[in-house]
Amino acid sequence: MDFEKNQILTVKIVDMTAEGEGIGKVNGFPFFVKDAIIGDDAQIRVTRVKKNFAYGRLEKVLTPSPFRVDTNCAFHRQCGGCQLQAMSYERQLQFKEDKVRNNLIRIGGFRKEMIDEVTEPIVGMEEPFHYRNKAQYPIGTDKEGNPVAGFYAGRTHDIISNTDCSLGVGENKEILEIILSYMRDNHVSAYEEATGKGLIRHVLIRKGFTSRELMVCLVINFRKGKKTAEYLPAQDKLIGKLAKVSGMKSISVSINTENTNVIMGKEVITIWGSDRINDTIHMRDVSKGLALTDQGITFSISPLSFYQVNPIQTEKLYSQALAYAGLTGKETVWDLYCGIGTISLFLAGAAKQVYGVEIVPQAIEDARANAANNHIDNAQFFTGKAEEILPDKYEKEGIFADVIVVDPPRKGCDEACLTTMLKMKPEKIVYVSCDSATLARDLKILCEGGYELRRVRAFDLFPMTVHVETVCLLSKKCPV
Ligand code: SAH
Repeated sequence: MDFEKNQILTVKIVDMTAEGEGIGKVNGFPFFVKDAIIGDDAQIRVTRVKKNFAYGRLEKVLTPSPFRVDTNCAFHRQCGGCQLQAMSYERQLQFKEDKVRNNLIRIGGFRKEMIDEVTEPIVGMEEPFHYRNKAQYPIGTDKEGNPVAGFYAGRTHDIISNTDCSLGVGENKEILEIILSYMRDNHVSAYEEATGKGLIRHVLIRKGFTSRELMVCLVINFRKGKKTAEYLPAQDKLIGKLAKVSGMKSISVSINTENTNVIMGKEVITIWGSDRINDTIHMRDVSKGLALTDQGITFSISPLSFYQVNPIQTEKLYSQALAYAGLTGKETVWDLYCGIGTISLFLAGAAKQVYGVEIVPQAIEDARANAANNHIDNAQFFTGKAEEILPDKYEKEGIFADVIVVDPPRKGCDEACLTTMLKMKPEKIVYVSCDSATLARDLKILCEGGYELRRVRAFDLFPMTVHVETVCLLSKKCPV
């Protein structure tokens, strides 16, 4: 059957892609429909036809899926950041569990029964909104010439005005409104990508969920003038207002004059308050979310630091990683892809010695400072690629590990890293993953190399989106 662009069709949505698009079939031919939900009867407009599949735009929901809910955000379809917001939270969690399970079976080659046996229930949030501790809003100009803060529409760089993203904290709106009104009152321009002119590019806001401390960083297309001490026109007026926001601790500018998609500039200058804010992470009972100790680990965060964006779920995720590691105080642990040392420092209290490896030098500096600030002296950090540092240390120094924890970026572990892990033969491997497809690929290699998959548990760190984190425990197979 031939389909034509702009043709209107009726489809029942019977499945969903890993990216959250609905899948419907017309005479057996699959259509991918963004914003449609499994169970919807939908009217769609054909947008693109390929050989074996096609894309359609959701025109109208004829009969809503039983999983369809009202969204919190009027812009959710235009923005595209919350692919699953129109789906009930319960069903979102199931979607994520299914995604992990399917990848482990399809890519990892594990048996269904085996996966069901080792999988523990996904850990979701009680309040799946307002969970992000970090927001980066682009600043632009609307048709009337007013400054706006918002988000890029779909895959474009057109800014749609919205200062109140429902994933962020309530203070974001207050801070953005202050900045926009300051811009209007003082005729401060927004950056314009096309011409490279204009001053304010982005606003970064961070909040310590435990400390309640706030940080604002304005990314600007400007260097300080010779004649003035200011980075921003009428700088004191802006600082005066922002400093009054409850919890405000740090106001800075970051200079970015490049024509680039990278948001932050390399240089950050504090114009009021401290250079950094603090936040504390506690160990939690994973299911109940109760803190297990009063004492947590405090991290010092700069505008450029990498820090997990959902601290409530991060605590549960790390606590699970620690529980899987099953440390008794005698172990040597390697934490690969350690970032600012979050997992390493969490493990240090229960291990004899922890070694962290991370590619970004600034993150390693942060990790060392965080260790010192928390009086942790059994954690040591190395800068470099995990796939280079680990083999090098193993071959030259014969390093040893009881437990290896990995938390790689989406592309997963490099094969050289996995091979060295297999040679080192730790009792346990704890794999923390933000992409279950590469996780499945890597688990296959580890399990073929002498390890057994013991536990799998998904964590919802990004409610309303399609992303899912997974923690796995592997242990060395007993020689028969
Ligand atoms: N475990 C940390 C960070 C995880 S994010 C936390 O939970 O906060 C993954 C980290 O891996 C990033 O900090 C990234 O800079 C780092 N990274 C990416 N490629 C790497 C490589 N080849 N070797 C070591 N680290 C790498």
